[in-house]
Order: sequence, then C-alpha cells, then structure tokens
Amino acid sequence: MFAGHVGVALAIGRGERRVNVGVFVAAALLLDALLWLLVLVGCESVSIPADFASTHQPEFIFPYSHGLLAAVAWSALAGVAVALLCSRPNLLKLRVACLVALAVFSHWLLDALVHRPELPLAGKTSATIGLGLWSNMPLALGVEPALVILGLWLFLPGSGLGRGKSIALAVVALLLMAFTAVGITVAHPPPSTTAMAGSSLATLVVVCALFLWLGKRSRS
Ligand SMILES: [Zn+2]
Repeated sequence: MFAGHVGVALAIGRGERRVNVGVFVAAALLLDALLWLLVLVGCESVSIPADFASTHQPEFIFPYSHGLLAAVAWSALAGVAVALLCSRPNLLKLRVACLVALAVFSHWLLDALVHRPELPLAGKTSATIGLGLWSNMPLALGVEPALVILGLWLFLPGSGLGRGKSIALAVVALLLMAFTAVGITVAHPPPSTTAMAGSSLATLVVVCALFLWLGKRSRS
C-alpha cells in the first residue's frame, strides 16, 4: 500500500489545520522509509518470490520497521520528536504529537490489512499477522482509491491552500493512486532488491517533499 497511507494522512491533516499536511504524509510513510533504509544496510530483507508475476507481492522480513512492537515504538518516538521540535503552545504541541504518532501507527494498521501474514508482533521469530487483502485484487483495488478519495474529501475543503495548490495536491494524490494500482497489478519484477529499495526510498523522499511544499500555506 502506498497511496492509501497518503489518503489516511490527508484525513488526519483535517484534524489539525495549523500544521503542514506534508508532516502527516511523511509520518504515515515513515515505516516504509525505515524499511528501505534497513534493507539497504542489510538489517531487513525483501525477496521476489517465484509467483511474483501473478501476485506482484514481494516477501518481507521486516521486524524493526514493520513489527507491531517496533511500530508502536516508532510512533511514540515520532510523537516525542515532534513535541521537542514544535515551538507551538503546549496544548497544540501535545495535539500535534498525538496526531503524528497516530499517522505513523496508521501505516502499520493498513499494512496489516493488505499484507500476507508476514508482519511480526515483536521480533523476527515471533508470530506474524496480515489479513492478505492484496490476495483479493478487486477488493484491494477498491480500498486504496477509497482511502485517497476520502482523504481528499476530508482535507481539501477549508484547507486554506490556494486553488492551484489544492488542484496540484489532488492530482498528485490521484497519480499516486494510479501508480499504486499499477504496482499491485501489472508491474514487472524489479531488476534487484537493492534497486527496488533505492528507487522506493527515492520515491518516498520526493513524495514527502512534494506534499510538504504543496501543504505550505502562503500565510502561516
Ligand atoms: Zn509498509
């Protein structure tokens, strides 16, 4: 899942208009950024199974980025980091920290919905969960766009962004939706898992930078 995480981040952005929605998008994508970084340094792994051409699902060993315990810890850490960096009044700071932590943890919840049972509860050898929605392609193709549309519908009205930025933000979210749909249906296997990790990490950085730019109001 990719675009769906952005959809949820936009919905969370509705909860606090005074914060650049790009912050929530980055938070919602944090676990994947950690995953690809950890794959590149060899602490986690991704492999392309023999049935990739029909399932389009890589297999992951990712206890430090996508374990339940790890996700709770990353969410808490992100919340604390935001609270320390945020210069707003205490009550707003606490609210933003909670929303950022929620955005980080929302990633794990959505991944647990779509991945095969491969998300560990704690360490590498612990029990794994995953409801495997990606195995039901029509349903998977319905859920992801629904999250994006819902996020845009909740976020855009009253966002305070200009017309141009609102349209651009919607276009980027819809493009990500199309990109995700291609990824889970017709994409070819990547040339190597290192190339996959590098290009995925670069994509995440570009997407976060784009939303941070689009989410910046002219007077804030
Ligand atoms: Zn993920």
